[in-house]
Amino acid sequence: MANIGYDDTPMIPGSNWRVHDGTRPQPTIVTPGTESSQGQAGQPPSDAIVLFDGADLSQWISSSGEAQWKIENGYMEVNRTGGIQTKAHFGDCQLHIEWAAPAEVKGDSQGRGNSGVFLMGKYEIQVLDGYDNPTYADGIAAAIYGQYPPLVNACRKPGEWQTYDIFFVAPRFDGQKLVTPAYVTIVHNGVLMHHHQEIMGPTGHRSATSYDQPHPPQGPLALQDHGDAVRYRNIWIRSLKDYDQGS
Ligand code: MG
Repeated sequence: MANIGYDDTPMIPGSNWRVHDGTRPQPTIVTPGTESSQGQAGQPPSDAIVLFDGADLSQWISSSGEAQWKIENGYMEVNRTGGIQTKAHFGDCQLHIEWAAPAEVKGDSQGRGNSGVFLMGKYEIQVLDGYDNPTYADGIAAAIYGQYPPLVNACRKPGEWQTYDIFFVAPRFDGQKLVTPAYVTIVHNGVLMHHHQEIMGPTGHRSATSYDQPHPPQGPLALQDHGDAVRYRNIWIRSLKDYDQGS
C-alpha cells in the first residue's frame, strides 16, 4: 500500500498516534441514512441498531412485561398501558427518533401531547405538543425536563411528524463519586436545541436534581406514557463505543 501519511512527525498529545500518522486506523465506512419527511420515515444509516421499524415491539418491554402500545401504519402509539423501554441498554449514543403529537388537540400545557424520551431510563428529553401551547419553559418539547428550555421552539403542528437527533454522553462514576456528568446535544426538526449541555442529574418533577445515586454505565432507552396518544416511528441508535478512546 502506498504511504498515505507520515512516520516522522510529532506525537499528538494524549494519543498513540503521530500527526498525519499513516497507520492510524481509518474510520469505518457507513452508508448514510435519509432524512424523514411527513409522508415517510427516513432510512437509518447502515451501522445503526434499529429499535423500531414500524412492524413490532420485539425490542421493547413494559414494567408489567410485554410492551403493549398500539402499532399501525408503521408507527407505535401510546395507549395508557404504561411506559416502555428497550431490552438492550446503552451508554454514549446517537439516537434518532420521530414522533407526532395527536392531530386532535385536547388539553393544554403539560396535558397536551405529553410523552418523553428517557435516556438511560433516567434523563428525560420532553416530548410535548409545543405548537401554540404555552407551558413552563423547562417543560416544552425538546427541553431537558425541569432543567433547561431548548434554545428555540421549532415544533411542527399537531399530527405532523417531527424528528429528534440526540447525541448523548453518559455520566461517569467512580464508586459513589461522580467523575463527569452527562452531556447532551439535541437537534429538533433539524434545528439545534442544546449544544453539549451538561445534564444536572436524573429527571425529577417539581424537584431539583443531582447525581447522588451512581448507576451503571448503560441503561435502557425508555418512552413515557403520559396518557396522551403520541406516536413514534423510525427509532434507531448508534452506540458510541469508541468515544473514550478517540480512535
Ligand atoms: Mg413528558
